[in-house]
Amino acid sequence: MSRGINTRCLHLEETEGRFDNYGALSYPIYQTATYAHPGVGQSTGYDYSRLQNPTREQLEKIVASLEHGTDALALSTGMAAITLLFELFQPGDHIISEADLYGGSIRLYDHVSKKNGYEFTFLNCAKDDIEAAIQPNTKAIYIETPTNPMMNVSDIRKISEIARKHGLLLIVDNTFLSPYFQNPLDLGADVVIHSGTKFLGGHNDTLAGFIVTNKEEISEKLRFLIKTTGAGLSPFDSWLLIRGIKTLGIRMEKAQKNAIELASWLNKQKTVKDVFYPGLPEHPGYAIMKKQARGFGSMITFNVDTKEHALLILKEVRLIKYAESLGGTETLITYPTTQTHADVPEEVRLKNGITPCTLRLSTGIEDVEDLIAELETVFAKLEKE
Ligand SMILES: *Cc1c(COP(=O)(O)O)cnc(C)c1O
Repeated sequence: MSRGINTRCLHLEETEGRFDNYGALSYPIYQTATYAHPGVGQSTGYDYSRLQNPTREQLEKIVASLEHGTDALALSTGMAAITLLFELFQPGDHIISEADLYGGSIRLYDHVSKKNGYEFTFLNCAKDDIEAAIQPNTKAIYIETPTNPMMNVSDIRKISEIARKHGLLLIVDNTFLSPYFQNPLDLGADVVIHSGTKFLGGHNDTLAGFIVTNKEEISEKLRFLIKTTGAGLSPFDSWLLIRGIKTLGIRMEKAQKNAIELASWLNKQKTVKDVFYPGLPEHPGYAIMKKQARGFGSMITFNVDTKEHALLILKEVRLIKYAESLGGTETLITYPTTQTHADVPEEVRLKNGITPCTLRLSTGIEDVEDLIAELETVFAKLEKE
């Protein structure tokens, strides 16, 4: 990759010097379901949009370039991406997974994958002995780092060495840092997952998902699967993603700057008991983050002193929106217990550290003074209660 990441968010090196599409800087939306053929056995290279669409392809090339992959597939949502990827496995296969994971992924495991005959072992991949959990039928290790929502950090390079030694696939959900801050394929992962709904799209206005790989054999299987199962991203949503990615770098930098300020501010509040942000030097994952990522991101999880205070904060915020999702221009506050992680069994939630006092912030790109001013007002109300 010769060019810097901000340049690659805007330009595809392979089309440089060409003036396709009348030189349009905004890639056209090919809103077509099908393509006419010049004759029998002939094709323009495009047959039907479930298989190929130029707008989706443009987006896929950009995302592959950002993640240093050889292929990227754009799907209708992050969950569609994970679901498609899991079609690589067979009944009886065993997968080692991070226990603290996006709630939707756990729901998929519990209610779909298990029905399909897959077996799982859940670990805290930042701490537990992964090698000891490998069985003869183990096929893959699936991690998030930092995890959602508890922000545990695991060492991708170390885990990739274990995966390699035992012939396992290493899958990393890189949604929380985006390719701007972390490139798991460079650290030995085989597959990267993104919820494109989050930082890549970045504007809280569309859903998308990606699978990126640098292995030809995996890419071939996934291309067959997307054609067969049909969850490819629509042309218009592909265009929204292309547009969102143009500003990925400046959004990530600004949101991270806000997060660093907010995390240290939260750390000083009487109502706040714990702040989980890997950019704080006291965070147990800080050193690994410094080694494997180019930044710390803009996700902060924190515990307040009581459940009542957690609920009051959600009720009182106005500028900060009480909403699910993350990674967009607007700051969101989420209650994992009843939102993102509601379908995770309570005992599992508590074991992972998600309590009724846990809140998750996705800092946006507002003026941080305004975010702090709002929280100051809300916290002052709590202290008066
Ligand atoms: C949101 C999210 C997903 C699921 O993505 P959707 O686009 O909502 O389907 C997967 N993993 C992580 C880490 C997420 O935050």
